[in-house]
Amino acid sequence: MFSYEKDILVKELDLWLDSRRVRPFSFASHAHSDHIARHKKILCSPPTADLLHLRLKGVQYQTLSFGRSLPLNGSIVSLHPAGHILGSAQIKIESQRGSLLYTGDFRPGPSRTTEPMEIHTADTLIMETTFGRPHYRMPPRSESEQELLDLCSRLLKQGRTPVIFAYSLGKGQEILKILTDADLPVAVDYQILKYIPVYQKYGVDFGKFRKFRRSDTQPGVILLPTTQRHHRFVQNITGVYTIYVSGWAIDANARYRFNVDEAIPISDHADFNELLHFVEQVRPKEIYCTHGSRDFISVLRNAGFKAYPLEKNIQLQLDL
Ligand SMILES: [Zn+2]
Repeated sequence: MFSYEKDILVKELDLWLDSRRVRPFSFASHAHSDHIARHKKILCSPPTADLLHLRLKGVQYQTLSFGRSLPLNGSIVSLHPAGHILGSAQIKIESQRGSLLYTGDFRPGPSRTTEPMEIHTADTLIMETTFGRPHYRMPPRSESEQELLDLCSRLLKQGRTPVIFAYSLGKGQEILKILTDADLPVAVDYQILKYIPVYQKYGVDFGKFRKFRRSDTQPGVILLPTTQRHHRFVQNITGVYTIYVSGWAIDANARYRFNVDEAIPISDHADFNELLHFVEQVRPKEIYCTHGSRDFISVLRNAGFKAYPLEKNIQLQLDL
């Protein structure tokens, strides 16, 4: 049903999945740049099309709302929320020969800015396994949020300036919502700010915040994209205290690796337990893993699943 040679092709549909090379027709699971290219036509959810439109002009978008069915070359295609960032979608393809579910990046836990993930059964599962090692078990989201809020409040009371680094799309908006829901004053960089109208269009209310300017001296939390971590102006901010928010904060050396004062584990990917629980609910006959370590494949095999790494030149036919 699909083949893989660096990219995944669903042959019956001439549809690529999250291809990073320019293709005639590709599904984009979400708007992060490592899942897209300037394809001729992109199949995606409506929020993903709106977000991508800010990055990729001149592309034809075929949008499909969550839960709707699209007949395509004798198969039925549907998209289902993946809980990773706004608009992130899993794609399910059903034909007489069986069903295929491709997750893209996903996270089943609660989020303030993302559609809650849905879990559907499938015969063949292609999944991301970013945090597929057992030590990647995230604390409950509410605990990490409280840790972030307590730290920021404490720093502000001391007259210091918490500077939070987050990915400009997805994590940035999630952190902003956590902060504004707690009524903390926040100044947001344009790279994060520019996506906010799309979130607002889909009903996310961010409350009060201001645009960050380097001349800004008002007290408050400063929210910057991770790409600005090494900019010199950051070190010149009065009383600066740098915070990195990422699932990788679980690693013991995270503060050193990201060169920050504190790292807090707020992730937009499933952690180890969530990956395993997800597979148990999908109940696939076979699983192909991408974006992660091979350790998770051993875990799945030990749990009785037929699991394989997604490698070059895989050719598969589904049998019912
Ligand atoms: Zn992503």
